[in-house]
Amino acid sequence: MVSVREAVAFGEAGESLRRELARQASAIRSAHWGDTVTYSRKVFAPLTTMCRDTCGYCTFVKHPDDTGAYIMTPDQVLATARKGEETGCKELLFSLGEKPEQRYEKAAEALAKLGYTSMIDYLAAMCALVLEETSLLPHVNAGTLTDHEIETLKPVSASMGMMLETVSNRLMQPGMPHHQCPDKTPKARLRTLKTAGRNKVPFTTGLLIGIGETWAERVEALAAINEAHQRYGHIQEVIIQNFRAKPGIAMADHPEPTLDDMLLTLATARLMLDPSISLQAPPNLSARHAVYLDAGINDWGGISPVTRDFINPERPWPQLDGLAKACADKGLTLQERLTVYPAYLQADGFVASPIAARAQAMTRQDGLAASQALEQVLEGAA
Ligand code: SF4
Repeated sequence: MVSVREAVAFGEAGESLRRELARQASAIRSAHWGDTVTYSRKVFAPLTTMCRDTCGYCTFVKHPDDTGAYIMTPDQVLATARKGEETGCKELLFSLGEKPEQRYEKAAEALAKLGYTSMIDYLAAMCALVLEETSLLPHVNAGTLTDHEIETLKPVSASMGMMLETVSNRLMQPGMPHHQCPDKTPKARLRTLKTAGRNKVPFTTGLLIGIGETWAERVEALAAINEAHQRYGHIQEVIIQNFRAKPGIAMADHPEPTLDDMLLTLATARLMLDPSISLQAPPNLSARHAVYLDAGINDWGGISPVTRDFINPERPWPQLDGLAKACADKGLTLQERLTVYPAYLQADGFVASPIAARAQAMTRQDGLAASQALEQVLEGAA
């Protein structure tokens, strides 16, 4: 693994060094992950669009006075889950704004109508409902979490996630994307990474690149993730997500990271992180996503046959057969995994027993999904 100092110097890399870094990153991918590239077939449940933060790049968040502000009811959660089941999904991903009830009275009132005082308690109840009523595995993206909140969610979820995004305190300043976002202080997010580790949660995290951070700050964020993993062994995947400018957000005119920037960040991540950490990039945020495979990724993340990408609603998911072909063109094979990676299903104490039993029944010997929906897609097309 390369050191922070070496990785910081990569920021000045010319064309030939960039090519060499990508080659080394791909070699690490091949050595650890073989020729398999994975994805998770999932349905998304955006439990609430309200949030106490107001990140400058967010299209998802709605003020409680806006028409798009809501909390999904249990019936809506179940209806979404059923659609996922019907289309071969194995995971239901709950995404939600952070603790809106602590900032807005209207959010607290809406939650109270559902019988709850805390969004995390309501989320736990919805996870339990999904487990009781469907065959899906819940994964939760609930942002920063305390020990108590993780203890509440762990018995009813297979895995959890929170994008670290950045460790730059500069981005909290006035005019910057995380100004007045209490859950985006690097301290709070790093604390959650560690809390998840102490509580043995199979955890997804990652970087949002191009929001104003420097290259050195990006490297520092990767180092912090790796350090948490070295200590607790819980980071199952790291997502490198590129910022996309959209109309209507505070950062509508902010430049997007280039493809070269994305490729250099991916290769650097692969070279800095423990090889056992899955490296993922979202395929729907770049038309040229196939070249990410040349920079060492081994996973495309969640792809839904049912629900759109609520965080980037203007970017449709690519077709699975297209992704499979992009992999095959590079000698790689696309395979479906569960939300929990195989290593964490085997490890003691990472997944609550009833959920582990359900997940194991859904896997084949190598820990990937026993029923590969892609084969059905390709058979159907033949
Ligand atoms: S990005 Fe997440 S934390 Fe920030 S405003 Fe949107 S929902 Fe809230």
